Amino acid sequence: MKSNEVPGTKGLVLKEALLWEKGRKGRKGFSLPRQDVPHCNIGEELQRAQTEIPDLSEIDVVRHYTRLSQWNFGVDTGMYPLGSCTMKYNPKVNEAMAALSGFSEAHPLLPPSLSQGALRLMYDLQNMLAEITGLDAVTLQPAAGAHGELTGMLLMHAYLESKGERRTKILIPDTAHGTNPASAALCGFRPVVIRSGEDGIIGPDVVADLMDEQTAGIMVTNPNTLGLFEANIRDIADIIHSNGGQVYCDGANMNAIMGIGDIGAMGVDILHLNLHKTFSTPHGGGGPGSGPVCVRGHLERFLPIPRIVENNGSFELSEDYPESIGRLHAFYGNFGVMIKAYCYILTMGAEGLKRASELAVLNANYIRESLKEVLHLPYDRPCMHECVFSDKLQRPYKVSTLDMAKRLIDYGYHPPTIYFPLVVNGAIMIEPTETESREEIDGFIESLKAIVKEAEQDPQLLYDAPHNTKVVRLDEVRAARKPCLAG
Ligand SMILES: *Cc1c(COP(=O)(O)O)cnc(C)c1O
Repeated sequence: MKSNEVPGTKGLVLKEALLWEKGRKGRKGFSLPRQDVPHCNIGEELQRAQTEIPDLSEIDVVRHYTRLSQWNFGVDTGMYPLGSCTMKYNPKVNEAMAALSGFSEAHPLLPPSLSQGALRLMYDLQNMLAEITGLDAVTLQPAAGAHGELTGMLLMHAYLESKGERRTKILIPDTAHGTNPASAALCGFRPVVIRSGEDGIIGPDVVADLMDEQTAGIMVTNPNTLGLFEANIRDIADIIHSNGGQVYCDGANMNAIMGIGDIGAMGVDILHLNLHKTFSTPHGGGGPGSGPVCVRGHLERFLPIPRIVENNGSFELSEDYPESIGRLHAFYGNFGVMIKAYCYILTMGAEGLKRASELAVLNANYIRESLKEVLHLPYDRPCMHECVFSDKLQRPYKVSTLDMAKRLIDYGYHPPTIYFPLVVNGAIMIEPTETESREEIDGFIESLKAIVKEAEQDPQLLYDAPHNTKVVRLDEVRAARKPCLAG
């Protein structure tokens, strides 16, 4: 492959010292006019603190941080096919809207009479998310998917308690994201594993066998983390409901079914969305995020407070919900993320959202078909927004998923999600999203094909990869435990 066909080339990767090493006594980032007031001793404390801060010029500081920023890889740098994360391009216009001073300088302690625009935006966004999901009521408070899951579990608990019931278990498929059992356990439920079938989805019979009077309900991800649609969801929901349970859906994979799948019609009672995956907030660095929770009507009275209520065209905050599970976030959640989601939904429109999901699914299936000759495909059937391969065909060459993922970095791509979901040994989980062009996706496919060839012909190349990066193959456990923070 010619070096200009893939984005990963060995460029000008600048080394960088610590600011303390770069500092030179007396260097300054500013010039002030000559002092014309009496000298004043600012105290020993402050002087000592000053000696610990390196003296630097403005250009030292600008170069330092610009260089550090260039060591980073993000969606704005290149394709980032991290499965289950929906690392799609986030239009900059949404950032610009969130930065408008009326929003960014709004203080959360302003009274509702001075915050009508912000309240209306949140109120309208709730309604939009209700419409997109086919559910009845929405809270925007949770700050992430996992936080939404916890909210959902608290809602389930509150609902059952209102009926005088105390159930202890919750059913969770073996393909679930690790946060699902963690959130359930945090809320005091004991997770019970549902084994998915040969076809990668859960069957109604298995659920019927596990469902009983001690089980609060089910937490199911749809589409699931194998990128497969849980086609039995309606039957499964009926089984859960007829035994007095509730159905929670992890909606982190909503990017596959916007405007296509009606979550309410699937029989789901509670769903969380990840605005930072599906609705235009960049993520990967730890936030801020937003994990709204959408519910059916019978759960509305338990939603977190304060809630936004409309009264003759004006908006107020109400805490008058005695059965509410209470507050889950300071003020109203991460407002900036909500603004971006609101703008994204308005600019895309209903048709645009549907088209985005269609293209996300098309792109994933294109990759699945293009790579299934060279990578083992454990579930060989049409997928949703992501496809999961394994390293089974490369094991005879002693090449693992990790080796191939590291080598992809040399070709200029962020590696896909690896070793997840756990039901696939050596999983390689690829989610291209709708925002990559045909050329970009082809480049990625050709790179993986070239890597598979290298695995057969020169596996050492893969064992030592990545080669083109500033830092080459690390002992990952040691790197996590004893991070080396110097450049
Ligand atoms: C990302 C993800 C989560 C967790 O969401 P966070 O916002 O990272 O807390 C939960 N479930 C699935 C399937 C996910 O992909």
